[in-house]
Amino acid sequence: MRMIKGDKVDKIYKVKQITSLYESCNECGLPIINCICNKTARVRTTAKLWILSSEREFHRPSNTARLLKLINPDSTDIFLWERTKGPEQLMENISKEKYNVFVVFPTESNEELDRRKVEFEPTDRIPAFIFLDGTWKEARRIFRKSDYLKRLPIVSIEPNNGSNYDLRRGAAKGNLCTIEAAIEILRMNGEIETSQTIENYFNLFIKSYKAGVSGHEIRS
Ligand SMILES: [Zn+2]
Repeated sequence: MRMIKGDKVDKIYKVKQITSLYESCNECGLPIINCICNKTARVRTTAKLWILSSEREFHRPSNTARLLKLINPDSTDIFLWERTKGPEQLMENISKEKYNVFVVFPTESNEELDRRKVEFEPTDRIPAFIFLDGTWKEARRIFRKSDYLKRLPIVSIEPNNGSNYDLRRGAAKGNLCTIEAAIEILRMNGEIETSQTIENYFNLFIKSYKAGVSGHEIRS
Protein backbone atom coordinates (compact mmCIF):
# COMPACT_ATOMS: atom_id res chain seq x y z
CA MET A 1 0.00 0.00 0.00
CA ARG A 2 1.31 3.42 -0.94
CA MET A 3 0.89 6.40 1.30
CA ILE A 4 2.27 9.85 1.81
CA LYS A 5 4.62 10.46 4.68
CA GLY A 6 5.63 13.88 5.89
CA ASP A 7 8.59 13.76 3.54
CA LYS A 8 6.43 12.49 0.66
CA VAL A 9 8.32 9.22 0.43
CA ASP A 10 6.18 6.33 -0.62
CA LYS A 11 6.67 3.15 1.27
CA ILE A 12 5.18 -0.24 0.59
CA TYR A 13 3.44 -1.78 3.57
CA LYS A 14 2.82 -5.47 3.65
CA VAL A 15 -0.79 -6.44 4.26
CA LYS A 16 -1.34 -9.37 6.64
CA GLN A 17 -2.69 -12.51 5.03
CA ILE A 18 -6.27 -13.45 5.84
CA THR A 19 -5.76 -17.06 4.79
CA SER A 20 -2.61 -19.11 5.23
CA LEU A 21 -3.09 -20.40 1.68
CA TYR A 22 -2.39 -17.22 -0.26
CA GLU A 23 -0.35 -14.06 -0.02
CA SER A 24 -2.30 -10.84 0.12
CA CYS A 25 -2.21 -8.19 -2.57
CA ASN A 26 -0.69 -5.05 -1.03
CA GLU A 27 -2.93 -2.78 -3.10
CA CYS A 28 -6.45 -4.10 -2.42
CA GLY A 29 -5.51 -6.18 0.64
CA LEU A 30 -7.22 -9.36 -0.60
CA PRO A 31 -5.69 -12.80 -1.13
CA ILE A 32 -4.08 -12.75 -4.58
CA ILE A 33 -6.59 -15.25 -6.01
CA ASN A 34 -9.31 -12.70 -5.24
CA CYS A 35 -7.42 -9.53 -6.11
CA ILE A 36 -9.94 -6.91 -7.30
CA CYS A 37 -7.46 -4.19 -8.28
CA ASN A 38 -8.49 -4.34 -11.93
CA LYS A 39 -12.17 -5.01 -11.44
CA THR A 40 -13.43 -1.46 -11.50
CA ALA A 41 -13.20 1.69 -13.53
CA ARG A 42 -11.48 4.55 -11.69
CA VAL A 43 -13.49 7.55 -10.56
CA ARG A 44 -12.45 11.09 -9.73
CA THR A 45 -14.50 12.78 -7.04
CA THR A 46 -14.87 16.54 -6.80
CA ALA A 47 -14.47 16.39 -3.04
CA LYS A 48 -11.00 15.66 -1.74
CA LEU A 49 -10.80 12.75 0.68
CA TRP A 50 -7.83 12.93 3.02
CA ILE A 51 -7.25 10.04 5.34
CA LEU A 52 -5.17 10.40 8.44
CA SER A 53 -4.24 6.91 9.51
CA SER A 54 -2.56 5.01 12.30
CA GLU A 55 0.39 3.01 10.99
CA ARG A 56 -1.14 -0.28 12.13
CA GLU A 57 -3.99 0.29 9.76
CA PHE A 58 -1.65 -0.16 6.78
CA HIS A 59 -1.11 -3.81 7.68
CA ARG A 60 -4.76 -4.66 8.30
CA PRO A 61 -6.45 -6.51 5.44
CA SER A 62 -9.82 -5.15 6.56
CA ASN A 63 -8.66 -1.57 5.93
CA THR A 64 -10.93 0.19 3.45
CA ALA A 65 -8.97 3.43 2.94
CA ARG A 66 -6.68 1.62 0.49
CA LEU A 67 -9.75 0.57 -1.45
CA LEU A 68 -10.85 4.18 -1.70
CA LYS A 69 -7.37 5.17 -2.89
CA LEU A 70 -7.51 2.42 -5.52
CA ILE A 71 -10.80 3.44 -7.07
CA ASN A 72 -10.42 7.20 -6.59
CA PRO A 73 -6.65 7.75 -6.81
CA ASP A 74 -6.55 11.43 -7.79
CA SER A 75 -8.82 12.73 -5.06
CA THR A 76 -7.80 10.44 -2.21
CA ASP A 77 -4.64 10.83 -0.14
CA ILE A 78 -3.54 8.78 2.81
CA PHE A 79 -1.33 10.35 5.46
CA LEU A 80 0.52 8.60 8.22
CA TRP A 81 -0.32 9.92 11.67
CA GLU A 82 2.60 10.31 14.02
CA ARG A 83 2.43 11.44 17.62
CA THR A 84 5.53 13.60 17.45
CA LYS A 85 5.12 15.43 14.16
CA GLY A 86 2.22 16.46 11.99
CA PRO A 87 2.00 15.37 8.36
CA GLU A 88 3.46 18.36 6.46
CA GLN A 89 1.58 17.86 3.23
CA LEU A 90 -1.76 17.58 5.01
CA MET A 91 -1.08 20.67 7.11
CA GLU A 92 -0.14 22.57 3.98
CA ASN A 93 -3.36 21.43 2.29
CA ILE A 94 -5.41 22.58 5.28
CA SER A 95 -3.94 26.06 5.05
CA LYS A 96 -4.79 26.53 1.36
CA GLU A 97 -7.54 29.00 0.66
CA LYS A 98 -8.96 26.95 -2.22
CA TYR A 99 -10.08 24.16 0.12
CA ASN A 100 -13.05 24.17 2.47
CA VAL A 101 -11.83 21.64 5.03
CA PHE A 102 -13.86 19.55 7.47
CA VAL A 103 -13.08 16.75 9.88
CA VAL A 104 -15.43 13.80 9.69
CA PHE A 105 -16.13 12.51 13.13
CA PRO A 106 -18.80 10.04 14.22
CA THR A 107 -21.76 11.09 16.23
CA GLU A 108 -20.54 11.70 19.70
CA SER A 109 -21.53 14.52 21.89
CA ASN A 110 -19.75 16.79 24.28
CA GLU A 111 -19.58 20.53 24.64
CA GLU A 112 -16.49 21.10 22.53
CA LEU A 113 -17.60 18.76 19.74
CA ASP A 114 -21.08 20.27 19.61
CA ARG A 115 -19.67 23.77 19.28
CA ARG A 116 -17.60 22.75 16.27
CA LYS A 117 -20.27 20.76 14.46
CA VAL A 118 -21.63 22.26 11.27
CA GLU A 119 -24.07 21.38 8.55
CA PHE A 120 -22.21 20.93 5.32
CA GLU A 121 -23.09 23.52 2.66
CA PRO A 122 -21.38 23.52 -0.74
CA THR A 123 -19.46 26.73 -1.55
CA ASP A 124 -17.18 27.93 -4.39
CA ARG A 125 -14.23 26.31 -2.67
CA ILE A 126 -13.28 22.67 -3.13
CA PRO A 127 -14.71 20.62 -0.27
CA ALA A 128 -12.09 18.50 1.50
CA PHE A 129 -12.83 15.97 4.21
CA ILE A 130 -10.39 14.50 6.69
CA PHE A 131 -11.17 10.98 7.89
CA LEU A 132 -9.46 9.44 10.90
CA ASP A 133 -8.57 5.86 10.18
CA GLY A 134 -7.92 3.19 12.77
CA THR A 135 -9.86 1.42 15.46
CA TRP A 136 -12.30 3.66 17.31
CA LYS A 137 -9.72 4.04 20.05
CA GLU A 138 -6.94 4.98 17.62
CA ALA A 139 -9.17 7.45 15.78
CA ARG A 140 -10.08 9.23 19.00
CA ARG A 141 -6.44 9.44 19.96
CA ILE A 142 -5.56 10.98 16.60
CA PHE A 143 -8.40 13.45 17.01
CA ARG A 144 -7.36 14.46 20.53
CA LYS A 145 -3.65 14.74 19.91
CA SER A 146 -3.50 16.63 16.62
CA ASP A 147 -3.47 20.39 17.13
CA TYR A 148 -3.80 21.06 13.41
CA LEU A 149 -7.31 19.53 13.50
CA LYS A 150 -8.51 21.62 16.41
CA ARG A 151 -9.73 24.65 14.51
CA LEU A 152 -11.54 22.77 11.78
CA PRO A 153 -15.31 22.39 11.69
CA ILE A 154 -16.70 18.90 12.20
CA VAL A 155 -19.27 17.12 10.11
CA SER A 156 -20.95 14.06 11.53
CA ILE A 157 -22.71 11.54 9.43
CA GLU A 158 -25.75 9.68 10.46
CA PRO A 159 -26.09 6.72 8.15
CA ASN A 160 -29.55 5.79 6.96
CA ASN A 161 -28.97 2.12 6.58
CA GLY A 162 -26.36 1.19 9.16
CA SER A 163 -23.12 -0.47 8.22
CA ASN A 164 -22.48 -3.43 5.94
CA TYR A 165 -19.03 -3.76 7.33
CA ASP A 166 -18.66 -6.76 9.60
CA LEU A 167 -15.05 -7.73 9.04
CA ARG A 168 -13.87 -6.56 12.43
CA ARG A 169 -14.85 -7.95 15.72
CA GLY A 170 -15.73 -5.50 18.44
CA ALA A 171 -16.54 -2.64 16.09
CA ALA A 172 -19.34 -0.58 17.56
CA LYS A 173 -22.65 -1.28 15.90
CA GLY A 174 -23.70 1.37 13.43
CA ASN A 175 -20.21 2.84 13.10
CA LEU A 176 -19.26 3.17 9.49
CA CYS A 177 -15.89 2.07 8.17
CA THR A 178 -13.81 4.62 6.28
CA ILE A 179 -15.07 3.91 2.77
CA GLU A 180 -18.69 3.86 3.94
CA ALA A 181 -18.18 7.21 5.63
CA ALA A 182 -16.69 8.54 2.39
CA ILE A 183 -19.69 7.25 0.41
CA GLU A 184 -22.07 9.13 2.75
CA ILE A 185 -19.99 12.29 2.46
CA LEU A 186 -19.99 12.11 -1.34
CA ARG A 187 -23.79 11.75 -1.34
CA MET A 188 -23.98 14.80 0.87
CA ASN A 189 -21.84 16.60 -1.70
CA GLY A 190 -24.23 15.60 -4.49
CA GLU A 191 -21.85 13.07 -6.08
CA ILE A 192 -24.53 10.42 -6.31
CA GLU A 193 -23.41 8.37 -9.29
CA THR A 194 -19.78 8.25 -8.21
CA SER A 195 -20.71 7.25 -4.68
CA GLN A 196 -22.75 4.37 -6.13
CA THR A 197 -19.76 3.14 -8.17
CA ILE A 198 -17.65 3.21 -5.01
CA GLU A 199 -20.34 1.39 -3.05
CA ASN A 200 -20.52 -1.37 -5.66
CA TYR A 201 -16.78 -1.78 -5.41
CA PHE A 202 -16.96 -1.92 -1.63
CA ASN A 203 -19.61 -4.65 -1.84
CA LEU A 204 -17.35 -6.64 -4.18
CA PHE A 205 -14.56 -6.20 -1.62
CA ILE A 206 -16.70 -7.60 1.22
CA LYS A 207 -17.75 -10.59 -0.87
CA SER A 208 -14.19 -11.29 -2.00
CA TYR A 209 -12.86 -10.90 1.53
CA LYS A 210 -15.32 -13.40 2.96
CA ALA A 211 -14.55 -15.94 0.24
CA GLY A 212 -10.86 -15.27 0.82
CA VAL A 213 -11.03 -16.07 4.54
CA SER A 214 -11.77 -19.68 3.65
CA GLY A 215 -9.33 -19.66 0.75
CA HIS A 216 -12.05 -19.75 -1.88
CA GLU A 217 -11.87 -18.03 -5.18
CA ILE A 218 -14.69 -15.65 -5.89
CA ARG A 219 -16.77 -16.37 -8.98
CA SER A 220 -17.74 -13.37 -10.95
ZN1 LIG B 1 -5.26 -6.37 -5.56
